[in-house]
Amino acid sequence: MPHISITDVTKAYAPRRRGGATVVAVDGVSLEVERGDVFGVIGYSGAGKSTLVRLINGLEPVTQGSIQIDGVDVTSLSGARLREVRQGIGMIFQRFNLLRSRTIRANVAYPLEVVGMPRDQRRARVDELLRFVGLEDKADAYPEQLSGGQQQRVGIARALAAEPAILLADEATSALDPETTDEVLDLLARVNRELGVTIVVITHEMDVIARIATKVAVMEQGRVVESGATYDVFTRP
Ligand code: ADP
Ligand code: ADP
Repeated sequence: MPHISITDVTKAYAPRRRGGATVVAVDGVSLEVERGDVFGVIGYSGAGKSTLVRLINGLEPVTQGSIQIDGVDVTSLSGARLREVRQGIGMIFQRFNLLRSRTIRANVAYPLEVVGMPRDQRRARVDELLRFVGLEDKADAYPEQLSGGQQQRVGIARALAAEPAILLADEATSALDPETTDEVLDLLARVNRELGVTIVVITHEMDVIARIATKVAVMEQGRVVESGATYDVFTRP
């Protein structure tokens, strides 16, 4: 069974004002992501990539079609069942989205606090996560004291806190320089290899896909125009 199965999914946004046009952001997309894949979705700005990610983690309802995670149709879930599925999905973002008034430790602890993990257990888990991303010496620093790459590694630690089976990365390296991008991609590869997490990477950068994704879907105007093994989809010299 695929880990994530997207079947003929369409997302139309209602017009923002009366008489405005409906935007079909995702248009009849079908994709299968296998457990343990690093799956890339590439396309220009406006192609519908972010929308697709928000549909996968249930942040937006689909207009049509279905999305199954581990065989469970998540498009029909709500309330506690939806929250449970979303706990199994970690997210990282282009702008890291760390809380600037909280220390690194507190940022990583945040999702564990939300689910009510006891304090001592939380502390041990956060230490372990910071070790995994190589930032144990920054536990008491604030986000602004860290480089962009370090901040994204904190974002990854936070995303892994609840031991998700899936990690969604939305333009996770787009704010970073090439060197730091490598550092973050290496970490994502380790998350996949060592923790067995299925990763969906969305990006407009070919290099990112070429470096990390074993499979890729190319999106244009809401549609998947090509997909397959990265090796087959990308040309080679
Ligand atoms: P990408 O991530 O590839 O840049 P998006 O999914 O952000 O693409 O956007 C796809 C299309 O949907 C764009 O035309 C965008 O303007 C539109 N869109 C995105 N979010 C919304 C929204 N909340 N309301 C209306 N239109 C939106
Ligand atoms: P074990 O089953 O012996 O815990 P694992 O290889 O599954 O071995 O886990 C090793 C460590 O990695 C554990 O401390 C666990 O908390 C952490 N870990 C495992 N899976 C994930 C995940 N999906 N996200 C974050 N951390 C994880």
